[in-house]
Amino acid sequence: MNILKRITQFAQNEPERICFIHRDEQMTFGELERLSSGLSKMIEQSQKPIFVYGHMSKWMLVGMIAGLKSGNGYVPIDTSIPMDRISKMIEVIEPDFMLDAEESRPAFNGTLIQPVDVQPSEESVIHITAQDVAYTIFTSGSTGTPKGVEILASSLDEFTNWMESLYDHQNENYWLNQAPLSFDLSVMAVYPSLVTGSALVMIDKDMIKKPIEIYNVLKQYPISAWVSTPSFLEMCLLLPEFEQSSHPNLKYFYFCGELFKHKTAQTLFNKFSESYIYNTYGPTEATVAVTGIQVTQEVLNTFNPLPVGAARPGVEIAISESSEILIKGDAVSIGYVKSPEKTSAQFYEEDGQRVYRTGDAGELKDGYLFVNGRLDFQIKLNGYRMELEEIEHVISEIKGISQAVVTPIEKNGKVSYLVAHIVKADDVTNDDIKEALSATLPTYMIPKKFVAHDVIPMTPNGKVDRKQLKEESL
Ligand code: AMP
Repeated sequence: MNILKRITQFAQNEPERICFIHRDEQMTFGELERLSSGLSKMIEQSQKPIFVYGHMSKWMLVGMIAGLKSGNGYVPIDTSIPMDRISKMIEVIEPDFMLDAEESRPAFNGTLIQPVDVQPSEESVIHITAQDVAYTIFTSGSTGTPKGVEILASSLDEFTNWMESLYDHQNENYWLNQAPLSFDLSVMAVYPSLVTGSALVMIDKDMIKKPIEIYNVLKQYPISAWVSTPSFLEMCLLLPEFEQSSHPNLKYFYFCGELFKHKTAQTLFNKFSESYIYNTYGPTEATVAVTGIQVTQEVLNTFNPLPVGAARPGVEIAISESSEILIKGDAVSIGYVKSPEKTSAQFYEEDGQRVYRTGDAGELKDGYLFVNGRLDFQIKLNGYRMELEEIEHVISEIKGISQAVVTPIEKNGKVSYLVAHIVKADDVTNDDIKEALSATLPTYMIPKKFVAHDVIPMTPNGKVDRKQLKEESL
């Protein structure tokens, strides 16, 4: 596996180079190499992926690299995942080993490895081959049972190479990672950071609750690359001194996982006009991201909403007759673990290549892919079909509104009315918003209620927490 070889090279040539930073904890490439080799030896005899449980600790990284070296792969489990959900994942995978990075001893019948049990080893053996599963990341299933998406080592290599092609080394290389390691957006920071010999700077959930701590991290380390959801960025745009002059090293921004709003992109571009800002798109089932576009001022002037770009090398994008985005190529997962029915509902083969049905609505225009929300995000209200994201887009374009999320309120299984959750300037009234909306939207698309928030709640992954907003509106 190419990326493992490259990480090992840094460990051999510059063992003292820092590869990981979280609060007071740091790790060098040499340490990562020795600890992961030691752990890999402990788990080699298993045929199952290792569960790596914890939050932003260096041991998560040790467990992940050990899982790769052993040839078994890994399943990252963030502490934000509830225990009964973890039990379901254990039922599916039946792992032999779990590394408990937090020393919080989750319920587990196999061998629970604590950090103190890991003996460093100088002997590095790489067992994984291109066709082995590198990691399995669980995504939510509509039935409540999480689905384990298996990603091959070759797909991870290919993805990392692409990311690296979008990054030029800076004087100092620090990659900021916001996403929990159980969310595949983190893959976009972890491996590109490691293969470029950079230090990965982790943002944890407590920092997200207290954004001033993020400000402190940004002051302390000259971050050069930023990987986050757009929602996380929107929160950071409110931080003091969040602009190029205060962060001259910060030249690369990569976003994925959610719609990157034009207004957010323009605000970021105004603050960091010398940086390269990428909007990328993809589901966990196709190795993080399969399309990307650099959002320049010209792109901002030409498109609103923004496109998600063109397919990366090795990937083909097609649109089905029902407007669904289809992804074809080696980036596509081999399917959901032990779930042949769910796998065949979403995946198929064409010309010897894997294809994934995304469930996203999209169109190809001017050589770019545009994502038009989830196919199942369309709702019907009083017989009218509409896209909630379209309404959100129109509201967030209004002056004085910085964020908008629309939730449908259902009664007796039918959508009864819409609620708009907004972050707005004090002088903007609901009447102003309704008036502005009536100029662009038909009356039936205008939400009945507007609820102002200081900040829009986020899920542990850093996406908008629609479920919480919906519950709050009831
Ligand atoms: P996940 O598997 O959690 O990474 O979620 C993938 C889904 O997030 C995709 O299927 C899209 O619905 C959405 N998504 C990801 N990136 C973008 C983007 N750049 N713009 C709009 N939606 C996105």
